[in-house]
Amino acid sequence: MNDYNAAELSDKKAGAYVLKPIDYRIGSVVAYQKVLRNILRELKKATKNMILPAYKNGAFDAVAVRDEDDEDEVNAAELAAVAIAGAGVAALFQQLRELAARLTDNAMTQVSKIFSSENTRHTKKFISRISQSLGVDVSSVVRPSDNKSLLQTYVNRNANLITSMTNDAIKQIEEEVYKAKLQNKSAEELSASIQQRFKALRKSRADLIARDQLAKINADLSMSRIKQSGAKSYQWDYRHGIPRQTRREHHVARHRKIFPVGEPSGDEPGMAINCQCRARAVIEIKND
Ligand SMILES: [Zn+2]
Repeated sequence: MNDYNAAELSDKKAGAYVLKPIDYRIGSVVAYQKVLRNILRELKKATKNMILPAYKNGAFDAVAVRDEDDEDEVNAAELAAVAIAGAGVAALFQQLRELAARLTDNAMTQVSKIFSSENTRHTKKFISRISQSLGVDVSSVVRPSDNKSLLQTYVNRNANLITSMTNDAIKQIEEEVYKAKLQNKSAEELSASIQQRFKALRKSRADLIARDQLAKINADLSMSRIKQSGAKSYQWDYRHGIPRQTRREHHVARHRKIFPVGEPSGDEPGMAINCQCRARAVIEIKND
């Protein structure tokens, strides 16, 4: 990334120029949500096709018995049966985990594309903001490739977030299966409780990851461009009326206030979970 000094390049009269903020696209959030919801849908389908029939056929019976019986009373034949059943059940969940890993791998190609297209668009927007406010063309120095390593960091971080989501999904399926066995629930009742878990995961994880990560990458892209332009400060922009954001009173209080780049350290706009605040570059042109 090549830095430049937007204030020095501009012929505008002295003053502080506050650039319009840049948003991420809602379309990108929706695209990312679709990718994540698809992973959950495929896992749910596999659960329905593999785990529920096994539950119906009593594959979990012997495994569940071990919890109830006193160790001393279990004979060798029973222990062998438990071991065989346990191995079968473990193999089922192993298959689910392998499926989750494949789904995550495939998803990352799409996630990379979404982030990359956000970066390309953000780059163009920033160039046009500088041009509109300062009358300077920076298209030869502000390039999408400047943010290559930032994008890679986001791809890696999101691969971890998705893996953690699928690990949790499989852990919850296991919990539901054993809970159902202990409570003598039917396969239909088990199916209903698993559906509930997936529904909750979709809302609390999949949709949140998509919204939060797009806001975060947008915030990082903005800050990276603000620094590159030589701006020493930015204006905080709290977005009133944006649904599904976490309202933080100290962020509301920062609205329209000017901060030095890099502050407040660790809590810059858009960095807290579900924060939709933005930073507007402040370019200060001084008298010659
Ligand atoms: Zn905020």
